[in-house]
Amino acid sequence: MKFTVNPASQRCPRLGRLEAFIDKPEYSLETPLVLLHTQGGQIPHVTHEVLKLITEDPQILQIPLVSMHCYHEAIRLYNGRVSEFVGNKDCLTCITVHDPSNITKQGHHMKDKVPIFTRNGKVLYDSKMYMSMIEQFKPDMYILLSDGDTNISSPNKRIAKAVESTVSLTEQCIEIHKESEVLKETFVIAPVAGGYCLKSRQKCIDLMQKNNSYIQGYLIDGLHNNGSEVEFISFAEVKPVVDLVVQNLSPNKLVAVQGCWSPLNIIKLVKSGVDLYDTSYCRILTERSAAIIFAMEPQEHSEAYEINLRQPKYAEDFQPLLRGCNCVACQGYSRGYIHHLLTVQELLGSVLIMIHNIYYMLRFFRKIRDCIKNGNLDDLEDKVATQFKLLQLDTDKDMQVVNGSVDT
Ligand SMILES: [Zn+2]
Repeated sequence: MKFTVNPASQRCPRLGRLEAFIDKPEYSLETPLVLLHTQGGQIPHVTHEVLKLITEDPQILQIPLVSMHCYHEAIRLYNGRVSEFVGNKDCLTCITVHDPSNITKQGHHMKDKVPIFTRNGKVLYDSKMYMSMIEQFKPDMYILLSDGDTNISSPNKRIAKAVESTVSLTEQCIEIHKESEVLKETFVIAPVAGGYCLKSRQKCIDLMQKNNSYIQGYLIDGLHNNGSEVEFISFAEVKPVVDLVVQNLSPNKLVAVQGCWSPLNIIKLVKSGVDLYDTSYCRILTERSAAIIFAMEPQEHSEAYEINLRQPKYAEDFQPLLRGCNCVACQGYSRGYIHHLLTVQELLGSVLIMIHNIYYMLRFFRKIRDCIKNGNLDDLEDKVATQFKLLQLDTDKDMQVVNGSVDT
């Protein structure tokens, strides 16, 4: 598996391609790309059969280790690839350590060990244990074990520890990777730690360089502790870190972020040179019964950035979630019906919203790639930013109503 940057692309934003997959040589995926976030290999609310109704294009499933830990003995006995084990052999797979849709607990650090909070409690992973799992899973790509436990509030001492630990774990994992027959074609993504301290980020990148030839991509780790709050991170705060990391990596390396970044911030990250994302934002949206419907095309107009189907005003609204959307949910069901399903706590409500959100996010990434090709990503950013501001105004108004400062 390899990553190549389109030579016609500028450094940022840029187009690239992932291809030469070991058992799927016919697959080729363009970047910027979004991985399909899963828990235990399943997209929340969406079965593999339903996924085929959403898209027939090749996809990469993002499988968090934290959601697979309890299956490791079964996978060892199964002795096949994780894509087959989870019942989706047509998809490619990427193993990550944490689940970006859930907040990762802070603290509990130990030298050369990373705490993973599984269903059965805390498990301390060292490089040997982690790489043994990766060898059993046989994914197409994976992120090395790291200490990404930093955020904008982290003190310098914690940041220094995160860098030291991440560099040490990377070296240990790479040593095992180099010797592994099973993993010799597997795509390696190394985490860059260092919180919001530019000096620490630079130090981490410099210390990773000796293993650069074994690393095909880098993850800008340690920007947050996952969960829904990522949606509200201000891009101005992360931009200096992202710019420093992107500018100091070899241009032929893939750059990834994880987390439920808002679509507006995704455009800004793409403009800074980030190639790889995930759909954990779709899960966050669906959990709050929201469907994303902002307009992407210049001539398109949308009533809102997102709509919350639990609101009583949708009870007698017989339009689809988004008029003109070709997803299975919009083709067959109305807002009123989905509102009813949510009201009676019927699971199909969340299934239909998730189908639309995933379909829409895949369309959003196609649009981003088209805009890079056509040189008009700024227009898309302006269009999304205008609608995002309206969402924020609505949210502020709702908060004022809740706080009693607006006369209802
Ligand atoms: Zn739809």
